[in-house]
Amino acid sequence: MVRAAIGLGSNLGDRAQHIATAVAALSELGSLHRVSSLYETAPMGGPRQGAYLNAAAVVDTELSARTLLDRCREIERESGRERRDRWGPRTLDLDILLYGNETIEEPALTVPHPRMTERRFVLEPLLEVWPDATLPSGTPLEEFRVAVSGQKVRKVEAVVPDRRTSAWLFVVVALAAVAIWWLGDLLFG
Ligand code: ATP
Ligand code: MG
Ligand code: MG
Repeated sequence: MVRAAIGLGSNLGDRAQHIATAVAALSELGSLHRVSSLYETAPMGGPRQGAYLNAAAVVDTELSARTLLDRCREIERESGRERRDRWGPRTLDLDILLYGNETIEEPALTVPHPRMTERRFVLEPLLEVWPDATLPSGTPLEEFRVAVSGQKVRKVEAVVPDRRTSAWLFVVVALAAVAIWWLGDLLFG
């Protein structure tokens, strides 16, 4: 069993839905350990294009790195991804960031992902769910954070409020309604 980190990104169509569908598909590839929040991030490189939603997932898998890459490409294809410009807009991008502590240099697969340490949109979600992740050399990824701190990344707190947030919202709205009713009664009653 190997612990792998996957970076997810989308800037075409229903971005959050593409990421959610991809997470569901990734959970079939092993045991999904953790999934980060969504982050809205500015595109880097490539043509002019819309903002991305990025996330990171950590999965424990029995698949080889090569098979994992093939599966990731399938999931990208299922989202309707078309490959045109390099770094162009896409419905879904799945990159293998880490695969255990292996270093892989094959024509179609480089691990650790060669540009991950320069990208805040990769580091921020990954470190949220795997704070002590390291490169195979042992260097903590946390060390690269300061150099990318100028890049724009905004954590999307909650796309759909979770149950606890909804419950709190209900209590606040109910209390406000009672207060307004009470005030109205006091002033005009
Ligand atoms: P970047 O790699 O800079 O994030 P990208 O994700 O837009 O760019 P893609 O078009 O998704 O690039 O992928 C191009 C090729 O990169 C893929 O076909 C794949 O074979 C290769 N590749 C090499 N290493 C990796 C990796 N670690 N994860 C995913 N793809 C990789
Ligand atoms: Mg990529
Ligand atoms: Mg890619």
